[in-house]
Amino acid sequence: MISSKLEQAFNDQINKEFYSAYLYLAMKTYFEEKNLKGFVNWFDIQVQEERAHGMGMYDYVHERGGKVELGAIDKPVVEGSTPLEIFEQVLKHEEFVTSRINALMDVADEVKDRAALSFLNWYLKEQVEEEASVGGVLQTLKLIGDDKKALLLLDKDLGTRVFNPPVIG
Ligand code: MG
Repeated sequence: MISSKLEQAFNDQINKEFYSAYLYLAMKTYFEEKNLKGFVNWFDIQVQEERAHGMGMYDYVHERGGKVELGAIDKPVVEGSTPLEIFEQVLKHEEFVTSRINALMDVADEVKDRAALSFLNWYLKEQVEEEASVGGVLQTLKLIGDDKKALLLLDKDLGTRVFNPPVIG
């Protein structure tokens, strides 16, 4: 059985994961409007991944005999108005999520729930990958600058990304 303190912390993080999906869905609209289909594909996969992250925790709380309580999802705010600025926000957001996973693990540590810690290790590794992949796109966007042809090449590249449903835990 999961402790009520850890249950609450998981419920908070489920909300953050679904907020992430919502934020990426909002960012996707920017690229839809610009007709950059590769970026649209990249964000579409982000949305699916974040939903899977949320569902992974949703299932886990149930598996541990806890109660899932869904809260309201905040209105997503897209701060940037260029692909570069949007990816700067994506990286900032992923770093925030990493800090929240760490905080969730602190709670699991506090209540000495080693099973939860082991489960959450997957999320920690996933965050390392998320930050690296977003950081890579950001670096390319910085190189591209105002070069529209190079932006279209990156768009083509991002269009090749495929969604592999994550195996969590
Ligand atoms: Mg996530």
